[in-house]
Amino acid sequence: MKTDILIVGCGCSGLYAALHLPADKQVTIISKSDLESSDSFLAQGGICMLRDESDFEDYFRDTMKAGHYENNRTSVEIMIRESQRVIADLISYGVDFEREADGSLAFTREGAHSEKRILFHEDITGREITSKLLERAKERPNIQLLEYTTMIDLVEENNTCYGAVLRMKDGSLQSIEAGVTLLACGGIGGLYRHSTNFRHLTGDALAIAIRHNIKLENINYIQIHPTTFYSENEEDRSFLISESVRGEGALLYNKNMERFVDELQPRDVVTKAILAQMEKDGTDHVWEDLRPIPKNELLNHFPNIVAYCRSQGYDPETECIPVVPAQHYFMGGIKVNSDSATSMKQLYAIGETSCNGVHGKNRLASNSLLESLVFAGRATTDIILHYNTLESNPELFQKIRFDKYEDAEEYGRRSNELVLEAIRQAEWIMEEEANAASEGGME
Ligand SMILES: Cc1cc2nc3c(=O)[nH]c(=O)nc-3n(C[C@H](O)[C@H](O)[C@H](O)COP(=O)(O)OP(=O)(O)OC[C@H]3O[C@@H](n4cnc5c(N)ncnc54)[C@H](O)[C@@H]3O)c2cc1C
Repeated sequence: MKTDILIVGCGCSGLYAALHLPADKQVTIISKSDLESSDSFLAQGGICMLRDESDFEDYFRDTMKAGHYENNRTSVEIMIRESQRVIADLISYGVDFEREADGSLAFTREGAHSEKRILFHEDITGREITSKLLERAKERPNIQLLEYTTMIDLVEENNTCYGAVLRMKDGSLQSIEAGVTLLACGGIGGLYRHSTNFRHLTGDALAIAIRHNIKLENINYIQIHPTTFYSENEEDRSFLISESVRGEGALLYNKNMERFVDELQPRDVVTKAILAQMEKDGTDHVWEDLRPIPKNELLNHFPNIVAYCRSQGYDPETECIPVVPAQHYFMGGIKVNSDSATSMKQLYAIGETSCNGVHGKNRLASNSLLESLVFAGRATTDIILHYNTLESNPELFQKIRFDKYEDAEEYGRRSNELVLEAIRQAEWIMEEEANAASEGGME
């Protein structure tokens, strides 16, 4: 197979990039699962936008504060500055955001935001955005969408990427030549027992990056979401009880139905408090009370959360629901510059797979859809700018040894282990550095 631009992943970042590439370029998007099984479809809370200049400083500060000031300041500024243009784009693609009675955009707030600056569509904002992007992509004759098609390796020589090796829907192996490859493979939740992510999102691009010495960054920066619906079945994907629920007034209780934390603090702080409380109480969960939210607001803003809780036997209008923290988001990833270029030529990474430093050590709620879209757009601008300088290497494709990929299960298992081991290593190095620093400080 051959294409001009290969996009690996069909979430919001991959689709948005595809729609920003010129119509005279053949774009191939592949997805490991069906086209709708991406975390982008799951996003509930919303997407941030700079409302007006007067909010710039506060938005910037909230993002930096949530990220423990480890964020890349340039990336944060780019994301905030480009937010209005991206939202205008989404609206032009048909995305329908909640409006006030006068027709202006309606904004909500989530934990750690000092202002209301989040656009939403009920509590299915991600589905609204990504389904519209998918609809538009299907209309474009230059975009080909292949589902159940998995990237298992890159075809690379001398640190230049020329395409990928794919496992097709029927299990066969094929190569695809591409002028540029964009990794838009999402997060790593499938590596964890409890995660809000789709199970097939196992950080495949990271395993490949490790094998090819592509630079990674902050890969031990993993966000745990404080509140997912507690299920006794450990195989279930954890259902998220959005942070905006707390933004609108929901409270957290221990086993004695007493509050134990300021619910509007950043995610990592709330998570820590819940885990400590569970340990103290000897329980598997804490309780979340959605009853302080006005009934109208609860039913209109959060209909899917209400329906899910009811399907599990809890009515949030009249009783508390059990909640527990779960792996949720990956702040680290394949290291990219502010144009989403990786350390390998002709290879870009966007969305949750990439790390441009926007989120620092901890992501501020509703910044990730925005970050995915802003930096997907920037990747395409850079690709177009450098398109005439791309090199091809057809001879390399004659030399691919497909036999090493044949045992799909074993290959996948080793890939997962590679990523988990790299995360453990990064965590260990960070702890060692912290210990050395504190010992140095005591001298
Ligand atoms: C429950 C939940 C709620 C969230 N709520 C919000 C929110 O309110 N606001 C917000 O800003 N963010 C939210 N997020 C985070 C946000 O949804 C994601 O960070 C974002 O959608 C990631 O987009 P993406 O394009 O990088 O990846 P995804 O949308 O996850 O897409 C990844 C794609 O890569 C494909 N893929 C993976 N590996 C391979 C492979 N080897 N070969 C081929 N294809 C592959 C997958 O099949 C999929 O198509 C939420 C996340 C979850 C899980």
